[in-house]
Amino acid sequence: MLSYRHAFHAGNHADVLKHFVQVQLHLYMNQKDAAYTYIDTHSGAGVYSLDSFQSNKTAEFETGIGPLWNCTDVPAPLKEYLDLIKGMNPSGKMRYYPGSPYVAEQMSREQDRLRLFELHPADCKILADNFRKLEAHKAEQGERSRGRRVLIEHSDGFHSMKALLPPPSRRALVLIDPPYEIKDDYKRVRDALDEALTKFPSGIFAVWYPVLQRMESRQFADRLRRLPAKEWLNVTLTTTTPTPDGTGLHSSGMFILNPPYTLEPILREVMPYLVRVLGKDAGARFTIEKGTQVTGAAAGRIVGDTPRAPVGNARRASPLSGKGSLRLPGQSMPRPDEAPAPAAKPARSGGARDAAARDGAPRNAAPRDGVPRNAAPRDGASRNAAPRDGAPRNAAPRDAAARDGAPRAPRNSPARPSAPGAPRTGRTRQGGRGG
Ligand code: SAM
Repeated sequence: MLSYRHAFHAGNHADVLKHFVQVQLHLYMNQKDAAYTYIDTHSGAGVYSLDSFQSNKTAEFETGIGPLWNCTDVPAPLKEYLDLIKGMNPSGKMRYYPGSPYVAEQMSREQDRLRLFELHPADCKILADNFRKLEAHKAEQGERSRGRRVLIEHSDGFHSMKALLPPPSRRALVLIDPPYEIKDDYKRVRDALDEALTKFPSGIFAVWYPVLQRMESRQFADRLRRLPAKEWLNVTLTTTTPTPDGTGLHSSGMFILNPPYTLEPILREVMPYLVRVLGKDAGARFTIEKGTQVTGAAAGRIVGDTPRAPVGNARRASPLSGKGSLRLPGQSMPRPDEAPAPAAKPARSGGARDAAARDGAPRNAAPRDGVPRNAAPRDGASRNAAPRDGAPRNAAPRDAAARDGAPRAPRNSPARPSAPGAPRTGRTRQGGRGG
């Protein structure tokens, strides 16, 4: 079932958490000169137009990038992320939002490799188109393209990741970001990570997941804690109290296996701010939790389908912060009576990210996203530099050919509008990240 389209959700609070963490992971990887491979198992379309039909239908960006756009007091680590997006929108108007492949393209260096997998044929094509335009733009700017720096494949990311591990450079950053529209996704993530950690124990693996009432979701983080990684870090962002019927996405998490030591203090700094700006009610909060593997139990773990005993890291979880509804990090975990009200009834067994489909957006709308024409790639300068001074990273470059009849953006104007896509028949469902 391939009904999920990320265009309906681009820029929402879950994307903010995911892409902010992704930026920080790249910055850490960039601290060493040695090349690394970035693997995106579920790439999506790469770039999204916030004035498209899909975005406007759900307006989910209003739960995420929208409220952040004009903030002037953002903590420095969050500014890295915001600057990247502002660089795509040199006019200052918020029109384009990056997908994880674009974030990786901007944050990685010439020597790094991007391996992008996407199973939806339409989104895979859009992704490839977007990267072609980026390459063309770079060529116009006189940047030489590095042959096989970026590979885009229409394939199952869970399978394709396996073949790439361990990477030649022995350095990899992997993002796993499935739609969770089928329950199986939870198990597939866990199994794929189990295998990946066996092949490449030192890789950094980052998993996005929805925090929902449904059983698979509630058990998911716990299962990830039992994976044989030396360390893990789990951060969640909740923006609202769950709705009584469990629809909508109120909370999501990023679970990082082998997290960089730099990440936890950054999360402590930024998460209270995100709660303050994106929180909608008293249910807004964050959690940060980390754990270490005590026993080196990777060697001794039970593989296959047999129920496995928790390895040490599952027992050594240490909550770092309270569910931070406007509280400072470092406080203890909340009492049970502080937890958000449970949904009155469990979510239906449909997709985790497809709740918005129930919220009124058409199922047959085909998004057309495009890379901003004028989103110039960042230069080859060190990506480890301190946050830039707020100037767009990507000075407005020339636009490329209009697609789908969308009007051309004037030269040096903001990125080309991607055709919002008249609804068309097909199996497209907007998907949502909710119950
Ligand atoms: N990572 C993207 C980002 O942050 O911009 C968003 C990805 S979106 C949440 C999930 C994507 O995974 C969808 O585009 C969907 O078509 C794709 N997908 C679903 N199952 C897949 C699989 N087994 N392998 C690769 N892609 C898959």
